[in-house]
Amino acid sequence: MKISFLHRLRPLITVQRDNPRLLKAQYVALSRQLPIMYAILLINTLALAATHYAIAPHWLALYVPAALTLLGSGRALMWWRLRSLPATPERVFKTLTRTNRLAFFIALSFTAWALALFPYGDSYTRSHVAFYMAITVIACIFCLMHLRSAALTITVVVNLAFVVFFLAAGNPTYTAMAINVLLVSAAMILVMHDQYQDFTRLVNTQARSEKLSEENQRLANEDSLTGLPSRRRFFSLLDQGLAQARLDSTKLAIGLIDLDGFKPVNDVYGHRVGDKLLFQVGQRLLEFVTADVQLARLGGDEFGLLVQHVRSEEHLIAVGDRISEALREPFIIGNIQIAISASLGLVIFPDMAGDAVEAYEFADYALYDSKRAGAGTLCLFSTAHYRDLKRDGATEQGLRRANIVEEFDLVFQPIVDVHTGRTVAFEALARWVSPELGPVAPGLFIPVAERIGFINRLTLPLLKKALAGASSWPDDVRLSFNLSAHDCGSRDAVRKIIDVIERSGFAPHRLDFEITETAVIQDLDQARCAINAFRQLGCGVSLDDFGTGYSSLSQLHALALTKLKIDRTFISGIEGNAASYKIVKSLIALSADMALECVSEGVERWEELEVLKALGCSFVQGYLVSRPMPLEQTAEWLGRHWRAEPVLRQPA
Ligand code: C2E
Ligand code: CA
Ligand code: CA
Repeated sequence: MKISFLHRLRPLITVQRDNPRLLKAQYVALSRQLPIMYAILLINTLALAATHYAIAPHWLALYVPAALTLLGSGRALMWWRLRSLPATPERVFKTLTRTNRLAFFIALSFTAWALALFPYGDSYTRSHVAFYMAITVIACIFCLMHLRSAALTITVVVNLAFVVFFLAAGNPTYTAMAINVLLVSAAMILVMHDQYQDFTRLVNTQARSEKLSEENQRLANEDSLTGLPSRRRFFSLLDQGLAQARLDSTKLAIGLIDLDGFKPVNDVYGHRVGDKLLFQVGQRLLEFVTADVQLARLGGDEFGLLVQHVRSEEHLIAVGDRISEALREPFIIGNIQIAISASLGLVIFPDMAGDAVEAYEFADYALYDSKRAGAGTLCLFSTAHYRDLKRDGATEQGLRRANIVEEFDLVFQPIVDVHTGRTVAFEALARWVSPELGPVAPGLFIPVAERIGFINRLTLPLLKKALAGASSWPDDVRLSFNLSAHDCGSRDAVRKIIDVIERSGFAPHRLDFEITETAVIQDLDQARCAINAFRQLGCGVSLDDFGTGYSSLSQLHALALTKLKIDRTFISGIEGNAASYKIVKSLIALSADMALECVSEGVERWEELEVLKALGCSFVQGYLVSRPMPLEQTAEWLGRHWRAEPVLRQPA
């Protein structure tokens, strides 16, 4: 019982250490208020001493107030000086504890002194004593309000003494005054208590909201899945890194890392496994973090790299290679083993990029180029890239301004049957003559159009043109038309293509779509949907540039293809290249296995044709037969070569 009472009393009379923020706030408030309190106290004290100077003994009217003034001034000065010193938790606690203890003694001394003066003089000086005590204590309580224990102490000491003293005097006026002071004291204690609680609450709320905003700050700067710095943090690190590199004339490399094969993992095993994979990637990347190397997750399966104090390109490439290698090691998630790789685009400041915007743009371009070069490649942005980037930029501008119907046209390249020499089809190939840039090769503008999402706007008008042109050919000559990944990328895009075919009146079974292997594996599911839709309509679907896209047999088996087109790179010089020969041989065997027709592209020389014939290839296309020709020449070509003499007889 006794213990629990003391326990509850403790916080009321002592300084509690458990809330350092509160202590600091109290300290700040007191260091503003206590000098004022002492000023009031001392001025009032001197005034009381003055009115008693002539009537009270010197020791009481002079020496004691002098001593009290000295003590008060000392304290006031100390508080004043504290304002310029750092408020360390230790200093704060010590000062408050001392103030709290001193409050009792100071209150006691001043009270005892004032009451000691009381017996001297007349009723005026006596009322001065009473007024001095009652009013000064109110000022002191207000100034000490933020240190509740001290405020309570002086309320109790001064007012208790006052009440007891004046009640004991037995005079009705004094009794009334004592009751008055008692009531005022009670009200003050109540108000002070409420005020103090509000103050505590305010301080605590502030502390909480500061903590919350720190937490938000941390969350914004950290990627929650991997624990790596976030995209936002990456860009602020990039800015800092650039500033530092400028300052000490060092080199900074910016890298963008994109995982190859992440999307299929997500598609096949679901997002949970995808997330776990990203987490593990993050863990592996964390191992590369040093004072000079920073890694961040920029979003999705893209990560950012910053390398400070790059000594040379070789040094940077070595760092990049180590990261690529680490990510090529298989990942184990549950009982699934997953193999992915990472493409990496890098640029060095200030060698190639001049600021943060360029650095990011150029690293992105290098990444795009490394992706083009194949999975798991690393690419450092060079002057050649810079030239290409500028050229692509001009191409992009030209494309955006282009009048598609007027500037774009098609040429047609025959595909012939090796055995009969007859033209079985023409492949339509886009041509662009820009008023500003002149003729631009499709190898250049098609990738740009794909990248900026412009390709769908080219495909439909070109397909219309091709279908209209092909309607003039005999019924057993087919049309082959190239599609990009984007053209098959959504139901809507596929629907639009089918609409064009249906409206054209061209028989769908005379039409083949060529889709590159890389486009197919980019999004296997969507490609499968598109291929099925085209097949349902009656069109054929050829896998273009076959052999360059690293697709696996099982992936191809699942697709309703009708033809494979073997890429030119394997055909060129095949007669003297054992590797090409082997590849083409197996590709032809594969197409036979899958019951698909096989077309060899880019045949330029008789020797190549001989080898292909020997390997059992049925159809060829290339400069040896004919270069692509304008539509007007196709009629003449067919007139000369279609039914008549096979074109594939080597001139004697
Ligand atoms: P592709 O589909 O592989 O087309 C074959 C390319 O090889 C054509 O280049 C053609 O002119 C060229 N070629 C044909 N025979 C030979 C040969 O014997 N030797 C050499 N060196 N080249 C030969 P082109 O017309 O420059 O087209 C390049 C690429 O642009 C095409 O490659 C295709 O991927 C794309 N493309 C062209 N037209 C279109 C189009 O209308 N739509 C889409 N999406 N892509 C197109
Ligand atoms: Ca093609
Ligand atoms: Ca091709």
